[in-house]
Amino acid sequence: MLYDVAIVGYGPVGAVLANLLGQAGLSIIVFERDPGVHPLPRAVHFDGEVMRVFQAAGLADSIAAVTRPSIKGMHFINGEGRTLMVRRGREGIGPQGWTSNWYFHQPYLEEALRVGVKRFPNVEVRLRHEVFAIDEKSDHAVLRVENLANGTLGESEARYVVGCDGARSLVRRLIGSTYEDLGLHQPWLVVDMLMKPESARGNALPDYTIQHCDPARPMTECYIGGESPRRRRWEIMLLPGDEPQSMLRPERIWQVLSSRVAPDDAEIERAALYTFHSVVARGWRRGRLMIAGDSAHQTPPFLGQGMCAGVRDAANLAWRLDMVLRGASDSLLDSYESERRPHVHAFIDLAVKLGAVIQETDPVVAEKRDREFAGGEPKMFDFPQPQLGTGVFDRAPPPVGVVFPQPLLPDGRKLDEAIGNRFALIGEAATIAQLASAARARLDVLGAAVIDRPGEEIEAWLAEQGAHALILRPDRYVLGIARNAEELASLCSMLPVPAAARKAA
Ligand SMILES: Cc1cc2nc3c(=O)[nH]c(=O)nc-3n(C[C@H](O)[C@H](O)[C@H](O)COP(=O)(O)OP(=O)(O)OC[C@H]3O[C@@H](n4cnc5c(N)ncnc54)[C@H](O)[C@@H]3O)c2cc1C
Repeated sequence: MLYDVAIVGYGPVGAVLANLLGQAGLSIIVFERDPGVHPLPRAVHFDGEVMRVFQAAGLADSIAAVTRPSIKGMHFINGEGRTLMVRRGREGIGPQGWTSNWYFHQPYLEEALRVGVKRFPNVEVRLRHEVFAIDEKSDHAVLRVENLANGTLGESEARYVVGCDGARSLVRRLIGSTYEDLGLHQPWLVVDMLMKPESARGNALPDYTIQHCDPARPMTECYIGGESPRRRRWEIMLLPGDEPQSMLRPERIWQVLSSRVAPDDAEIERAALYTFHSVVARGWRRGRLMIAGDSAHQTPPFLGQGMCAGVRDAANLAWRLDMVLRGASDSLLDSYESERRPHVHAFIDLAVKLGAVIQETDPVVAEKRDREFAGGEPKMFDFPQPQLGTGVFDRAPPPVGVVFPQPLLPDGRKLDEAIGNRFALIGEAATIAQLASAARARLDVLGAAVIDRPGEEIEAWLAEQGAHALILRPDRYVLGIARNAEELASLCSMLPVPAAARKAA
């Protein structure tokens, strides 16, 4: 059988992509070398935009059931307990139509994603199967695979292959990508603890994330909560002189964490050593092969954005693959990298800057750093919300090329519920009614949603831009804004309409 897409790697990014492509009705095969979800502690946070991608995959409710909405932000505290900076929290529903931050235990999240994939008979998952080679043909690729359960070798064919195969990606190597190194590479110890419910000290720990910017021992402390009410995470920077393997010993962990927690308060669930990297691959596509997630970029986790970036990759790639497999030009896949690379770069740049604040171990330099933050309130900041790099949107400044908010429509639905996973024309009825029929035909060919009673919030957004309509892409990024029907028609000419449909339209 010739599959539409083969996904190599069934971590969170592969699983999100499998859900999105499965929902689009494409035939998908997923290969994963491990027998189950990765058990070691890794991601704990995702943001409101990522929840919106889960919503697009029809999984918002099942994922909300295993995650905890968080409103309190991330606090950067120095060695004396003074707050230097805060990554702002946010009460209530945020601009993406969901709480802006969520905490979770990664194995539970991955399990919910895999249950989601089971909805689709068109998605086949092969666990304990390792892809060891891929041959490219003119119109498909052949994956050579070992069944690790019995050692047999086999082959599968797919029109496109996406390597969601993590930091040591085979697909990235086959593409021949190089790396841009953003300079941060630091070993850390990561410990998950299960708190004892009777521990008064444990119960007094904060229910928000703290970055302990203490030059004596930089650390991150997170409350997971939700489905894991007893679970807490400590990430501990290794210092010169620490012998990595001995740092994994319980007595050493308790010693390092003695100011926060002791054996009477908690039990150690898992501990693992990681080296945090900051790199972005150059070359996310070659021919039929593409990469997404950690195979394309790695960030130190100080913003909790590594997996989030991979989920954004999946959302950016899913609609392109769907359209190309339905007849749109294959060149639509080229702007995947040009759009996503600068976007993820902005997040990694900020994580590296924060890393320099958190990881300072020279007390003199740390004191100088603290003086810069002295006086007045702590410095507040937000996640970046960058514009995509050059791609499928109008050449205009933000908010074009930026993710659009998700307000409620006058009928009470969230915007995306009304749109589905399609292009959408949104704006004032009068402007939309004047749109030339040829332009309208391009939207119709794509099955675009039309929303001409968008309600006060979107009307105010349009007014702020001096516009009367906008076109949204299926991944909710703004393709363009228009002041009148002529500008709207010009935006429609950018829509990636399949060649056959273009002739018919
Ligand atoms: C300590 C720590 C904290 C973090 N905190 C956060 C956070 O709070 N928020 C956040 O967003 N991110 C965070 N991250 C990053 C996040 O965990 C990763 O970005 C995310 O797991 C990457 O997902 P992925 O699917 O791209 O890759 P992986 O999760 O690495 O999955 C890749 C999969 O591919 C499989 N595979 C590889 N090669 C093959 C092959 N040849 N054949 C078959 N299968 C193959 C592997 O077995 C694996 O299952 C953190 C990371 C660490 C280490």
